[in-house]
This record gives sequence, C-alpha cells and structure tokens, in this order.
Amino acid sequence: MLARGTDLLAAEQAAGTAIAAFTVYTLESIRAVVDAAESCERPVLMSVGASSYRVTGARELAAAALAAAESASVQVGVHLDHCTDEAEITRAVELGYSSVMYDGSALPFDENVERTAAVVARAHAEGVWVEGELGALAGDEDTSTGVAAREMTNPLQAAEFALRTGVDAMAVAVGTVHGLSAVPMLVDLNRLAAIAAGTSTPLVLHGASGLPDNNLTAAVGAGVVKVNVNAELRNAHRAALAEALSQDGDDLLRIQRTAVAAMTTVAAEKITTLSREEQPT
Ligand SMILES: [Zn+2]
Repeated sequence: MLARGTDLLAAEQAAGTAIAAFTVYTLESIRAVVDAAESCERPVLMSVGASSYRVTGARELAAAALAAAESASVQVGVHLDHCTDEAEITRAVELGYSSVMYDGSALPFDENVERTAAVVARAHAEGVWVEGELGALAGDEDTSTGVAAREMTNPLQAAEFALRTGVDAMAVAVGTVHGLSAVPMLVDLNRLAAIAAGTSTPLVLHGASGLPDNNLTAAVGAGVVKVNVNAELRNAHRAALAEALSQDGDDLLRIQRTAVAAMTTVAAEKITTLSREEQPT
C-alpha cells in the first residue's frame, strides 16, 4: 500500500532501525524495490528523483511507482529526492507523491530555513511530509563522481534548522559523498551523535553506497532513520544488463527478468542491513 504520513519514520526511529530509500529509474527498478521489500516484509521508499525522470517523463515514472506502491503488500512511500525547484515540488505533490525533499543546502542558512519552512507549510497542507537538507554533500546523485565532502553539518545549526523549518526529516552531511567514491568514506559517528543529541527530527543519510555494513549500522544506531541508496542498485542493474546481453542477447524478457532479479537481491540485502538493530560490541 502507498504509505502516507510520517508513521513509517516514527516506527523506524522507535525501533532503532532505518528505512531504505532507493532511487528508481525504470519499471524494472520499481519492480525490484517492491519485490525486495515484500520478501523482507519491510516498508521501503522509492525515490523518483527530479533527475531520474528526465528520460522517462515525470508523470509516467511517478504513475508507475505509485501504482506499484499501491498494490504492494508492504508500505511503500514515493519520494521526490533532491529538488531545488519549488514549482516542481508543487507538481510532485499534485502527482500524489507521499514525501518530497526540498534541497536548500546550497543557500545561505537563513534563506534555506525560510524556503524550506514555506515548502513544509504547503506540503503539510496536502498530507505530504518533507525532508530538508543542511550541509552540503559533494558528488552527483546519478553518476559515481565522488569527491571529498565539502561542508559538514554543524550540530547547533542542525537543531536550529529542525526547529525553525518543522521538517519531518533532515539530511545531514557527516562524511559521505554521493556515488561510489574512489577512497572509502566513513560516517563521522561523533558528529552524527552530536547532531542527533540536539534534535528529535529523524536524520537522513545520503551517499551511503559503499559504506561498510558496520559503519552503516553504527550510523543507524546513532540516529539515522532513512538511508538513501542509489549507486549500488544502479551498478547491479548495469552489470546484470551487460551479462544478460552477452548471453541472452535477443530475449528481451529474459534480460528484463535478469535485471529485476539482480536489483532485488541487492535491495533486499540493504533493507536487511538497515533493519538490524545495532548489537553492542
Ligand atoms: Zn542525496
């Protein structure tokens, strides 16, 4: 079923676990994410990003994701990832998205607060929850061009941002970068814990692809409630296509099935990792 409202986030926060948000680009990736969530009997979010629907069309990809969410046996949210355009957010709300991310992280602090708060007011009126971002993550969402993180989130500013904007979730920069980076990145757990100590707003980790499982589960233990995953699923998709094309070159259905199966495996592994409560060491 399509998950509306912030109950999903609250449940993860109470359990000390995190929900995975996978960026989807095609019908195959939508199928794989829903199949994985159903096999794990866990809720999931699909990020239908402002960039990922450039090829297929926003209305078309959103409709496919919403239809898959509605017929799923588990709760599935449809989320607009990284959006800097307020008109596009309005359109996503009209299309039926269950949550949106307004990314004002490149703006001066007060302007980020002001614009994010305005988005929150409009989205909440339609029953849509909002993720904001404070601190800047380097790298590109859709390709793996990781470079060192630029500006880490300041814990005091984070508490102020959460309070003044009323966001339902807050993306923070704590050492990761978008995409798979050449040098392994780790979450700065001390900074993350300091941010979590100052606010009860659920924290979101972007750029988590390639993090060692123990660092990722420690981040969840320190207060991360939503984890964005993109590069790992994308790589599984590409690798499966390459392999299937070389073997089943003329059987398109087989190629599609191979891609769905490969992405389902990767997504299920990630969902399982995030649903594990941190074991004391
Ligand atoms: Zn991101």
